[in-house]
Amino acid sequence: MTLVKSWVEISGSRLMENLRAVQAAASAGVETLAVVKANAYGHGAAGVGRALVAGGARWLGVNDIEEGTELRRALGEDSTRLLVMCGMDLADAPEIVAHGLTPVVWTAEHVDAMESAARDAGHRVKVHLELETGMARQGAALGAELASVLERLGGSKWVECEGVMSHLACSEVVGSTVTLAQQERFAQALDQVAAAGIRPELVHLGNSSAVAEGSTMEWLRETALRMKAKPMVRTGLSLYGYCLEMEGAKVAEGKLRSRLRPVLTWKTRVTGLRELAAGATVGYGATFTASHPMRLALLPVGYADGFRREASSSDGHGWVMIAARRAPVVGRVSMNLTTVDVTAIPEAALGSEVVLLGEGVTAEDHARWCGTIAYEILCGIRAHFVML
Ligand SMILES: *Cc1c(COP(=O)(O)O)cnc(C)c1O
Repeated sequence: MTLVKSWVEISGSRLMENLRAVQAAASAGVETLAVVKANAYGHGAAGVGRALVAGGARWLGVNDIEEGTELRRALGEDSTRLLVMCGMDLADAPEIVAHGLTPVVWTAEHVDAMESAARDAGHRVKVHLELETGMARQGAALGAELASVLERLGGSKWVECEGVMSHLACSEVVGSTVTLAQQERFAQALDQVAAAGIRPELVHLGNSSAVAEGSTMEWLRETALRMKAKPMVRTGLSLYGYCLEMEGAKVAEGKLRSRLRPVLTWKTRVTGLRELAAGATVGYGATFTASHPMRLALLPVGYADGFRREASSSDGHGWVMIAARRAPVVGRVSMNLTTVDVTAIPEAALGSEVVLLGEGVTAEDHARWCGTIAYEILCGIRAHFVML
């Protein structure tokens, strides 16, 4: 048997509560697509995907075809719609069709590849068209670029443009002028789509922060209504219980964030204990010297597992929770081992459970130590998954 060094516990009930909170905040009539890319932000896409579908989610968003086919297999059905959001390799078109995935397209070549894969399969397929409005990543830009994709879509027998979408750059900024400019460009592009005779069923824009901020949801509802389409928003982080702090005004701060609870708890066990004399040093670089006698606990995780080196005592003053109390990291986090101070936690024993991330030490705490965002911390965790 292999030793499980660390594991992640996922609360299915909290996931459901967050899903309901997001749906309520997105408001009536707005469909939510649950984003489960990057292994559901480190939460395990198979378990999370199944739970979301059981909870009524009809749309899930994955990164690429590999995630899409794996999730399709894990779900064991093909009625849930899986949107492949990040990139389309032309050679993947037959597999996209075979697994009933829905690609995001934005070039005439994408449409051609889907057209011939659908013809070969003998049935029509649906695609979503991404419009470039200010991220400068994927998407057809207004004008000639968009015109060439629309022309191909218009002449297609086998490909149906089911959805039209774009992505916001500054959704966590309340009243952002960048967002306003993106909405403006999106509206113009939608006019160009309509003028080409294409009638998408879905129009989608926005992420968790857009739901929390609120104004884009209102704009989206009105815009979709005008096109006789259904509005949809793509939410990831909020389902997992986190939300960026809104910048600018406090307007919508309470709208979503306060109703979310983290669903992930990352745990390990104490694998060693050591009494340390005053003057002894700890870890690589001997960056820590005990100023008094101490008791250290050894943990079998390190930066290779996603427990970041910035949590080292010399860098960021990270901590873990043992017996509901903070045990500060001592010395440097190594690749697969970390030492923490349990001098003030007499309950700490061999085998004691340790919370690396969860109650008392959130993904936002980790993000602060590392100068990053909760997203990067969560999808960097490498552990076994346990669905509660
Ligand atoms: C990841 C992603 C989202 C979800 O963003 P969150 O901030 O996690 O809600 C939405 N749309 C696209 C295109 C994405 O890539």
